[in-house]
Amino acid sequence: MSAPSRPLKRKWPEALARLSQGVTRYLATLGSETRGAATPSMPLRGECRPGKVYLVGAGSGDVELLTLKAARLLQQADAVVYDRLVGGEVLALIGAACERYYVGKARGHHSVPQAEIGALMVRLAGEGKSVVRLKGGDPGVFGRMGEELAALGEASVPAEIVPGITAASAAAASMGIPLTDRGHAQQLRFVTAQLCREDGTPDWASLARRDETLVFYMGLSKVAAICAGLRDAGLPGDWPIMLVANASQPEQRSLTGSLADMPQQLADQPLPSPCLIVVGSVVRMVATSPAAVAKQLTP
Ligand code: SAH
Repeated sequence: MSAPSRPLKRKWPEALARLSQGVTRYLATLGSETRGAATPSMPLRGECRPGKVYLVGAGSGDVELLTLKAARLLQQADAVVYDRLVGGEVLALIGAACERYYVGKARGHHSVPQAEIGALMVRLAGEGKSVVRLKGGDPGVFGRMGEELAALGEASVPAEIVPGITAASAAAASMGIPLTDRGHAQQLRFVTAQLCREDGTPDWASLARRDETLVFYMGLSKVAAICAGLRDAGLPGDWPIMLVANASQPEQRSLTGSLADMPQQLADQPLPSPCLIVVGSVVRMVATSPAAVAKQLTP
């Protein structure tokens, strides 16, 4: 069954104009000398369609790292379904009349089951609403987007994916390093540290390579296991590792060190969640990067 074919919303050109004016005003506050003489017109186009679900990346927390497309959709949507890792400044962009549904984890509670989130989106779209499913970082990186696409597909609800800045990109940028540098890494791997659970064993031998950057998501409580696993599989004790918590946000904190010393460093100076783990010789570039200086918050 196809989506309800209602006429397109009347409000989107208005919302678009408002957003464009807002961004233009923001640029004006930066001063004309930094942006040239003419104020650029914002390349915003498109409409939020009724009965459709947009799976949108909210980026890593810094509202300025949001895409223009995401900002436009947040202004236009009838309903937004969002997670714990979405920042407050991003949520502030949601239109006043828009319905909001929080489906993240409350303190001490489990998150809303995936099946319920799927059912909620299907219901809202079935009511002819345009729905934004807002997820931290990039929705396609450890974001359970596959399950949500399946639920929408099963109900024949049309969907569109809008990528976002994933935590790995944000963490590397704010520490002033590339994730791949040809002198350091010819491969880049995103790994879920959930593999380090008791019943799952990462393939440490395949991960313990010197020509690769490894990025572990969801690994704050697995740092000791990661360091031990990689060392047992052949990486040296002085192999570089960095931890970046709250990447791209004012409260960002980081630790840089080696596989041998990181578990103790973390025990001495615990970092909060969310936290990303980067392993690889590219981490050595933090020490000399001009882009790391301003943001190097390592205690
Ligand atoms: N889709 C998200 C990842 C969700 S999994 C993305 O693309 O970024 C959740 C994990 O992402 C967290 O446990 C943490 O490892 C990482 N993460 C998300 N936001 C982060 C941030 N601002 N700083 C550091 N790590 C972050």
